[in-house]
Amino acid sequence: MTNWRRWLPLTALLLLLLALLALGGLDRKAPAVGEIPYSTFKSLIEKALVPDIRIEGSQVTGTLREPQPLGPAAAMVGRFRTRLPPIADPELMPLLERQKVAIDVADDGTDGWGRILASLLPWLLFLGVYAFLWRRLYTGVAGGLGQGGLGNFLDGSRTEETRPARKVTFADVAGQDNAKREVSELVEYLKEPARFQRLGAEVPHGILLMGPPGTGKTLLARALAGEAEVPFYSTSASEFIEVYVGVGASRVRRMFDEAKRRAPSIIFIDELDAVGRLRGSGFGGGHDEREQTLNQILAEMDGFAGHEAVIVLAATNRPDVLDPALLRPGRFDRHVTLDLPDRKAREEILQVHVRKVPLAADVNLSAVAAGTPGFSGADLKNLVNEAAIQAARESGEKVAARHFDDARDKIMMGTVRTLAIQPDEKHRLAVHEAGHTLAAFHLPTADPIHKVTIIPRGRALGMTQQLPEADRHTLPEDYLRDRLALMLAGRAAERELIGNVSSGADDDIRQATALARAMVGRWGMAKEVGPVDLRDGEEHPFLGREMALPRRFSERMADVVDDAVRRLLLEAEERSVAIIRANRAALERLVAALEEHELLEREAIARCLGAMPLAPVAAAG
Ligand code: ATP
Repeated sequence: MTNWRRWLPLTALLLLLLALLALGGLDRKAPAVGEIPYSTFKSLIEKALVPDIRIEGSQVTGTLREPQPLGPAAAMVGRFRTRLPPIADPELMPLLERQKVAIDVADDGTDGWGRILASLLPWLLFLGVYAFLWRRLYTGVAGGLGQGGLGNFLDGSRTEETRPARKVTFADVAGQDNAKREVSELVEYLKEPARFQRLGAEVPHGILLMGPPGTGKTLLARALAGEAEVPFYSTSASEFIEVYVGVGASRVRRMFDEAKRRAPSIIFIDELDAVGRLRGSGFGGGHDEREQTLNQILAEMDGFAGHEAVIVLAATNRPDVLDPALLRPGRFDRHVTLDLPDRKAREEILQVHVRKVPLAADVNLSAVAAGTPGFSGADLKNLVNEAAIQAARESGEKVAARHFDDARDKIMMGTVRTLAIQPDEKHRLAVHEAGHTLAAFHLPTADPIHKVTIIPRGRALGMTQQLPEADRHTLPEDYLRDRLALMLAGRAAERELIGNVSSGADDDIRQATALARAMVGRWGMAKEVGPVDLRDGEEHPFLGREMALPRRFSERMADVVDDAVRRLLLEAEERSVAIIRANRAALERLVAALEEHELLEREAIARCLGAMPLAPVAAAG
């Protein structure tokens, strides 16, 4: 929506106020008029104080030869006004003639109407603006869908056909092969609906795209519209309910009407869960704005006649909270899931986004993909953009591997912070991070170390970064035990080298405890608990990475779980202490190098640690 449209109603209101002020102003400019009784008027004439009068209907106005103290407050006035009595006064005309008063009779009809109109004008203006607003708000007429400026001011939603600057096709969607296959079946139908309708084939009207944020749901919907070359109406469900009560349903109606009119076409509703939550769970006792909007969507989808080639795509990352009515046959009955990309798909997505980016020879997209597990398509797009920004800042001609590395750190950890760190604190930081690094180097199943730094970034003061060689879909027990030991190794190193621990291990302990709880309560990895699910409530299907374990079991079981969790953590700590004691000299070398350089890459770390013969480490168990 353009900015001037946003200001239109305010401008209208200001104009109205100005008009009112102007009218008031005109009135004020007129000379002071005294309201006098008819009898006073007659006596003024008798005294020959009135040279002329003007008669308009029953009203008489006139000017005095000189100002007189007239009216209720006896103020000095130069003009007067009076009313003629309802019964004609036979003496008046002879008196006027006698005193030679000039008489002007106004054309009562037109002048009267003009006066009435003038007095009504502000009200008419006000009513006009009000009616206009109301009409645009509730019916969306006046020029059709989303065309009016004022309508859009209140509207906020982009219900008009959305045309991307460049045609998006399936080639722009990397990976997501299953989802693309499912959606591409619809292209033929949208291109030639008649062929399907002739044979009585029922093509799904509603398709629900599900998946974590940034996996390309919107992109896929756009690509479908681009491939089929049909109008595309895109909106976000949260926009339906952001302004006034009752507006959402009318917006839905307008969007569907317009899409049907221009069929074959595609409607895309993003964030369907914003309106599609289970009905009755709203605050407004079951009849709130959201539910009205949802009901309207359901009604519109039921109302599709067989011949209307309109496909409704909706996206959500909370399919678990959707009202079951939305998922019934005839509505969003086809479900397409988009997952976070695996390593191969990440590389393909990177390739799509580096099309216009000049890359230096040292950039290996496969290595970048390997180093970005858990990144969504949107994250990868952001990564390429950040890397390009870094390169541009350095006035480089090409984007190099280190720019990608920096960009990844920035996305994962935040920007580098300038922080005044005291030498003893810096030493402790180096010890802590070196402890993690040493453990990662020696633990049998730990992911290879990538780099270690004590340069503060985001909330972290230091960081040890590992790069998994492949994406992991399941986590074996020995890997998890090694992870616990690795998480606690920073703190163990502080105790061994400095003699005490610090609050720097806060996040390590939190994460290690959460992981140990999941191992005990979800994955049956503690003998004393066994394979029992001790979870409570539903975990978020896509975002639920928190591994907290709320309680829904007996107090006795809670004690057993607590003991098992504690045992796991203590065992892990013992293992990390063992590694540190066995490799103390190597650790001290690493600490010194880290204090000096603040950042060590894989090779430098290997040089520090690899010169020593590896001490044997007890296997997990
Ligand atoms: P949300 O749930 O937050 O709305 P979404 O799943 O709709 O997210 P998009 O808006 O489609 O995600 O993705 C954001 C951007 O990320 C896209 O414009 C695109 O540039 C990039 N992207 C995401 N997935 C892919 C992919 N598979 N291939 C190429 N680019 C992708």
